[in-house]
Amino acid sequence: MNDESIEIEKNLEKARRLYVDHSRVMSMDKTFSSLLSAYGHEIENSRVLMTALGLPELCSYCATEIPGGGCCGSHIATWYDPIVLLLNLLMDVEIQDKSYYKNCCRFLGREGCTLKARYHFCVNYLCPRIYKALDEEAVSRLKAQSGAELFLGWKLECYLLDRFSKMGLSF
Ligand code: SF4
Repeated sequence: MNDESIEIEKNLEKARRLYVDHSRVMSMDKTFSSLLSAYGHEIENSRVLMTALGLPELCSYCATEIPGGGCCGSHIATWYDPIVLLLNLLMDVEIQDKSYYKNCCRFLGREGCTLKARYHFCVNYLCPRIYKALDEEAVSRLKAQSGAELFLGWKLECYLLDRFSKMGLSF
């Protein structure tokens, strides 16, 4: 296992521990549950919009044809800290053991990203091929939708960090 993989597995281990210790209490927290449900709704809205605009076809070309997975490079998984990974576990994401494609992000599956909660880079980044394929109106719709998704993800991260810091846990 290389340094990159060790870091990713450590973060996953911490996220899984947090899940075991706190998921039951979190599921009874009405504010958190309603934020998480709204977040899931915006993630789904993003997925529907991306599909309608043909992004999965454009992105899978890079994942399968470009060595290293295009913008889903292996190092990106190291940016995923225990809190964002915990959000995925709380949304019932089954985190796969390794990337489907060689030398790509640990979370890249056969048909794209396997995570629901994702960082701004993964949600926001539009490569030159996408800009070339879409008109201005489509790009604006994508950016507005990404903003709605990221805003709720950020609120949830803050909520969890605040809650854990009151318990003396830091990350
Ligand atoms: S987390 Fe998902 S979107 Fe981000 S680089 Fe990995 S596979 Fe790609």
